[in-house]
Amino acid sequence: MSLLVIGSVAFDAIDTPFGSTGKIVGGAASYIALATSLLHKHVGLVAVVGEDFDFDFIKSLNNRNVDTTGLQIKKGEKSFFWHGKYHMDMNSRDTLVTELNVLADFDPIIPQNWSNPEYVMLGNLSPQVQLTTLNRLTEKPKLVVLDTMNFWMDIALDDLKAVLTKVDVLTINDEEARQLSGEYSLVKAARVIREMGPQTLIIKKGEHGALLFGENNQTFFCPALPLEDVFDPTGAGDTFAGGFIGFLASAGRTDFEAMKTAIIYGSAMASFCVEQFGTTKLASITKSDLNARLEQFKSLMGYEIID
Ligand code: AMP
Repeated sequence: MSLLVIGSVAFDAIDTPFGSTGKIVGGAASYIALATSLLHKHVGLVAVVGEDFDFDFIKSLNNRNVDTTGLQIKKGEKSFFWHGKYHMDMNSRDTLVTELNVLADFDPIIPQNWSNPEYVMLGNLSPQVQLTTLNRLTEKPKLVVLDTMNFWMDIALDDLKAVLTKVDVLTINDEEARQLSGEYSLVKAARVIREMGPQTLIIKKGEHGALLFGENNQTFFCPALPLEDVFDPTGAGDTFAGGFIGFLASAGRTDFEAMKTAIIYGSAMASFCVEQFGTTKLASITKSDLNARLEQFKSLMGYEIID
């Protein structure tokens, strides 16, 4: 099953109560590509960077079988830059700087051999670019998953609503779900958002897990793994989405039962991401590391109710 990923490939700077980074590799699609490539071998990336980017990172994606022929390199231009600062609880953060740079006029060109993918992950990017990408595919994919953030709700809500009519699954955090729906209750928010287009909604709640809402009021909850060390939550949402769609693409499924397992994969994958700054930990894990975490999830979630 072919899996096409688009999203930001970027430089980030991150401040947490435990320290700050200088410029490091980040971006939604960077995290997604790392996560999906651990689960699936037919992944293609469409993104844009400036001449200043760290091309060793791109080589590391190629070594993991990610096809980067859809990555545009803009001569004389700068890569997207994001600077975030986490609060003491690490569950909330402020964006200090967003410099769109090459993303400002990104025209997503889909390589011909990627024009008909079965699975599509529209990572965080302008909703206009997400929509253009879908319009450029030659056939309707089996599954389209979209991730976005409050930044785009603030400046491009109409475009976001337009692309939402064309996706199957939306992943957002609880604060964003409330902003998008105007509802405080997440159950009501899920109803309102699902009426906007996506049949399935995943609401990420950071260290408090993730909720899955599907057809016929089907609901599922997956906790986050309690971790001793959380250094940097940046990219956890993207990693989660990558684990989610990576599992579905490797299983060739899109049904609700498979999605329940997929959010456990996403949560397990995200639990690695937060343990070190940036992409470092995610880039170093193996399939057996992941399997060990999946076992931890099984024991965390497997409870019986005794009469
Ligand atoms: P997450 O922590 O999963 O929400 O994702 C963090 C990543 O999103 C960082 O690596 C940033 O480079 C990227 N990012 C932040 N703001 C934007 C934006 N407006 N558009 C696209 N990507 C962004």
